[in-house]
Amino acid sequence: MSHVFPRHCHAEMPTAVGGEGVFLIDSQGNRYLDGSGGAAVSCLGHGDREVTDAIKAQLDRLAFAHTGFLTSEPAEALADLLIEHAPGDLDRVYFVSGGSEATEAAIKLARQYWVEKGQPQRSRLIARRQSYHGNTIGALSAGGNEWRRQQFGPLLLDVSHIAPCYEYRERGDGETAEEYGLRAAEALREEILRLGPDTVMAFMAEPVVGATAGAVPPAPGYFQRVREICDEYGILLILDEVMCGMGRTGSLFACEQDGVAPDILCIAKGLGAGYQPIGAMLCSKAIYDTIASGSGFFQHGHTYIGHPVATAAGLAVVRAILDRDLLPQVRKKGASLQQALEARFGQHPHVGDIRGRGLFRGIELVEDRATKAPFDPSRKIAARLKKAAFARGLICYPMSGTIDGKHGDHVLLAPPFIISDAEIGMLTDRLAAAMEDVL
Ligand code: PLP
Repeated sequence: MSHVFPRHCHAEMPTAVGGEGVFLIDSQGNRYLDGSGGAAVSCLGHGDREVTDAIKAQLDRLAFAHTGFLTSEPAEALADLLIEHAPGDLDRVYFVSGGSEATEAAIKLARQYWVEKGQPQRSRLIARRQSYHGNTIGALSAGGNEWRRQQFGPLLLDVSHIAPCYEYRERGDGETAEEYGLRAAEALREEILRLGPDTVMAFMAEPVVGATAGAVPPAPGYFQRVREICDEYGILLILDEVMCGMGRTGSLFACEQDGVAPDILCIAKGLGAGYQPIGAMLCSKAIYDTIASGSGFFQHGHTYIGHPVATAAGLAVVRAILDRDLLPQVRKKGASLQQALEARFGQHPHVGDIRGRGLFRGIELVEDRATKAPFDPSRKIAARLKKAAFARGLICYPMSGTIDGKHGDHVLLAPPFIISDAEIGMLTDRLAAAMEDVL
């Protein structure tokens, strides 16, 4: 009997023993095509020797030095590299161990910034209903997925949730994508005015929504207008690129494609690419300088921040993405994946939308294509599809969620950047077979 407390108490899990390229291998020798990189993590695939060698070399030199006393070479080098390529005036990198830690730290940094600026009345955070920002209390408070939040309600922070930018369901008849993008952004202004502008500290959003909705990109102009609104009321913009960052959408940072730069940017998943647990929060020079010239101490800190081995892994991963010129590959293969999905499922009676950017793609499943009516939650479409795909040797990320009382089922695909055309074909074949098993 296992003594591991698993995610799902009643699921029988095979034991993973190896990984090669886009495949994971279990102890029975079964090979699974990792079509979602776990949860948009394994951007370089499995068994990347350059990354594993960098980790081993770092372990041989130095495994750990507490950041209360010392910095380390890989942490310094990774911070330099990230800032060299980061948008806007992002200037400092605060390393953490994962995505929830990054968003949690961002919320606290926003609050401390305003306190040190002499505006302690700014304590309100605005986020969106269609979002997932992590599972710790602050991060969960910012997220909008009702199922994830349900039982923790009494513990959560009072975060305002506004409507997302969700073209498939919300764009009006006769409205252009641009018109819709601008209209959707105005929900932020309304909420700021409702709360009182000088009580609001920050707005947090995912540039491309991942885990609650299956790769939903923003409408054109949406984030530019959001940035303008934040600037108009002096509110910080926090972008959560934990899932969509680190090249996943075809640019190193997803927000580059929207022509905006945040005040605080959260990354994780693809940063360690599964080789080490690592995340980071990047912040602007103005925020850093406020803290540095004020208390001089960000009141946060976890034991493992800036871990030398984790940052050595992150450094090797970012170098691989840049030096191997993987970003154009992501754009090209992402277009091939979109085409393959459209060819396969474009006319499928239960596929409402196929969307995304780069190698970050989502399929929205519906009961009725014409009315866009979702499946009844009791049919557990996402859970059944995950199981059926796995049985056919495909790891993908189907999920269901309820937002504003409305249920939705989606499949998220986020394969490693090294996926070949033949493997894209295999992915769509296996997904089609699994869909047939379930729908
Ligand atoms: N933010 C986003 C956008 C995510 O998708 C996730 C995880 O899926 C998180 C934060 C939380 O990251 P982690 O699971 O590493 O804590």
